[in-house]
Amino acid sequence: ASFAELALSSPLQQTLKDLGYTAPTPIQAAAIPLVLTGRDLLAGAQTGTGKTAAFVLPILQLLMVQQTEPAATRPIRALVLVPTRELAVQVHESVLRYGKETGLTSALVYGGVSIAAQVEALRNGVDILIATPGRLLDHLRQGALSLSQLTHLVFDEADRMLDMGFMDEIKALLRQIPAERQTLLFSATCDDNLYALSKVLLRDPALIEV
Ligand code: AMP
Repeated sequence: ASFAELALSSPLQQTLKDLGYTAPTPIQAAAIPLVLTGRDLLAGAQTGTGKTAAFVLPILQLLMVQQTEPAATRPIRALVLVPTRELAVQVHESVLRYGKETGLTSALVYGGVSIAAQVEALRNGVDILIATPGRLLDHLRQGALSLSQLTHLVFDEADRMLDMGFMDEIKALLRQIPAERQTLLFSATCDDNLYALSKVLLRDPALIEV
């Protein structure tokens, strides 16, 4: 398959060409068309498979289509939850790289650094937020951001998030996120806990294993 066959828009195709990506990886070929239809997704994929682009590219495209207001007044529409600061930084770099022609904005929120600087970054309007669960809850409790307009929710490395004991944080976050949304769950492994989480999060998900 080619990126054009996956129905990705031409700005995104041009970006991928500039990056030297000639063809989608298997997870991208499977996930991108599904995500573009708006369906929920449960995907089993290891790091290194191209899983980040598999969710970032279609979300960029969906958000571009729905773009209405100027950036500064747009609400956060996509949230990517990750277990660690390192992964947050990596996913953010991918969003910047793949989204450079889209006009969409993104920001990072993770623990261990000053909240104030992160709050400042959120002032300019954010389309896509990448966050670790604990720090995101801190921001919500302070009223520094709202997730009430969220349309896309992604869990990256969900198994690690559960291993690190983030279930309570995830439950608290879900209370502040609209039930009507698209949810994508990526995990390298699947056990009973992950299955239980997927039951809580996903509605009639498509399943992909690579
Ligand atoms: P990930 O599994 O998302 O961590 O991606 C692993 C690496 O593969 C990253 O360095 C990406 O830049 C790269 N990559 C992702 N998709 C493609 C593709 N379709 N063609 C070539 N490289 C890719």
